Amino acid sequence: MRLTKFTDLALRAVMRLAVLEQGGPLTTREVAEEMNVPYAHMAKAIARLQHLGVLEARRGRGGGLELTVLGRRASVGWLVRELEGEGEVVACEGDAPCPLRGACRLRRALRDAQEAFHATLDPLTVADLVASPAGPVLVGLSGRRTG
Ligand code: SF4
Repeated sequence: MRLTKFTDLALRAVMRLAVLEQGGPLTTREVAEEMNVPYAHMAKAIARLQHLGVLEARRGRGGGLELTVLGRRASVGWLVRELEGEGEVVACEGDAPCPLRGACRLRRALRDAQEAFHATLDPLTVADLVASPAGPVLVGLSGRRTG
């Protein structure tokens, strides 16, 4: 199983914002810089997270991105499911559909494996992800920003 780059960026943003109180408010551009990814890519991931209710942007002086209560308590499994969507791990349908797709045992096994992958992430929360040693490293990234 491989996560899309989009999901990975979104999870990086969530982890960074989960330790915000130790580093002050951040803009999308700052999160992108800290995570060493293009601004446009990070902006799309941030927009999706806002749509999910995981984070919000406070306007004005001292404003910036912050996690919502939902974002702090969110299950990583739920988050990954929402970000990845309903897609299967193999392309059985589409322009050139596989002739086995209606009766394929491999397809069922891969669906089960995908569910098991997500289920493994279900007990984890965002707070779990930023426990030491990850949290201090995330906070330390603010010192590496160029702007
Ligand atoms: S062999 Fe099975 S899993 Fe592979 S593309 Fe065909 S239907 Fe899907």
